[in-house]
Amino acid sequence: MSFLVTIGLEVHCQVKTNTKMFCACETSFADEPNTHTCPVCLGLPGALPVLNRHAIEKTLLAGLLLDCGSPEISKWDRKNYFYPDMPKNYQTTQMDLPLCIGGEVPVYDFNYPTDVKKDIPRPGLKIRLNRIHLEEDVAKSTHLGTSSIIDFNRAGTPLMEIVTEPDLQSSAEAFAFLRSLQMILQQGGISDADMEKGQLRCDVNISIRRRETDPYGNRIELKNLNSISAVRRAIDYEVERQWEELQAGIEQVQSTRRWDDDRGESQLLRTKEDAHDYRYFPCPDLLPIHTAPLLEKVRPLLSERPHERATRYENDYEITAYDASVLAADLPLATYFEAVAANGKVPGKKAANFLLNVLLGLLNERSIAISDAPVSGPKVGQLLTLVEGGQLALNQAKEVLLVLLENPDKDPGEVAQSMGFEPADASELEGFCDQAISANPKQVAEIQAGNEKLVNFLTGQVMKLSKGKANPKQVTEILQKKLL
Ligand SMILES: [Zn+2]
Repeated sequence: MSFLVTIGLEVHCQVKTNTKMFCACETSFADEPNTHTCPVCLGLPGALPVLNRHAIEKTLLAGLLLDCGSPEISKWDRKNYFYPDMPKNYQTTQMDLPLCIGGEVPVYDFNYPTDVKKDIPRPGLKIRLNRIHLEEDVAKSTHLGTSSIIDFNRAGTPLMEIVTEPDLQSSAEAFAFLRSLQMILQQGGISDADMEKGQLRCDVNISIRRRETDPYGNRIELKNLNSISAVRRAIDYEVERQWEELQAGIEQVQSTRRWDDDRGESQLLRTKEDAHDYRYFPCPDLLPIHTAPLLEKVRPLLSERPHERATRYENDYEITAYDASVLAADLPLATYFEAVAANGKVPGKKAANFLLNVLLGLLNERSIAISDAPVSGPKVGQLLTLVEGGQLALNQAKEVLLVLLENPDKDPGEVAQSMGFEPADASELEGFCDQAISANPKQVAEIQAGNEKLVNFLTGQVMKLSKGKANPKQVTEILQKKLL
């Protein structure tokens, strides 16, 4: 018996700004608790909010990056509830006129979990967005047994809420969606979106039903998941739990649950009956926003998105779609790749291969990020130009690279020379070739009978004779001239 899973996400993402949403306090992480506070973000009576223009502009920019529209006028509302981390008893947010509406997030295939990557059910998936609104983050409370402590440094940090349509169908899709969204927001300069720092948090709505024609099942909300892998685990658990109950004839009641990642289970928090009635009303302290002039201001800041960059690489450098997407996904890697390929003498395909298969491996072994690579992109470009020009074999280039990693100031050509990787003089090479030909009459006969692949065997023999110093490309050319 099968069933359908329907998932919608609400992603809370801290906007990268120097100061808070409605006051001039610095935004901070891991500073001494309660050192970045003022009457506004402490929620003291009578304190008046002042809008942070940067937070609004960045949210509008996020909307442009995600193909959202914006209403002409966007306004602020109060969402009323009592909670210790929100002492003024309301959160300033946006209800009916958010900054951004609609839009979509491309889910990049390479962002699926490894075990799903080989068989993605819906490749090239796009997830529709419902809206993005801006609000203030709450204070951070930590519960210690019977008491709680609270830190207001986080209170008032600008927080975007990105709400999807119920377009997702599995935990793997949610995983890939979040990684793709995170990537777009990070590269667009909107947010650092670091889940470990709580800059990206996620509520998940899940329901299941038996078949397409059935109405949606009652949805269960999982609150405040703070890692992408926890989102995946929580969804898998919840789908299993709901399916077992459905089979046992138990209807789901619309409710909110808490995910306990340590125990690997969800626990009921509250059902619809005791859900909050927030009594939203327009904020009397803040003026509505005309979005058009702000949109015009931020439009020039719109950067290339990972999928656009990948398409450009595919077209300009003629590399595979997969390599293009891997390079484009990581901004420092993309910048490095462009620097390697910049001189135009190295075909993109070869630059990409060398980067992905050789350089990244060596850097990984040394736990060095590409952004800290000791050898610059242009220098690797120079090295590959030597390979392209037939002066150096690819495996020799790897050895030169190893030396360059230790001595980044050295010149690739000089290093190659000092290692004895010089183009051998032609007469010496010819001599080695003649030697190899006369020593292997059987193979020569086969080559001349049409088995041209055997030339590689002779090339190998010549390489041995030259003690590995000859250039295999050059050797093969000489052998072909002599035999074919
Ligand atoms: Zn403040």
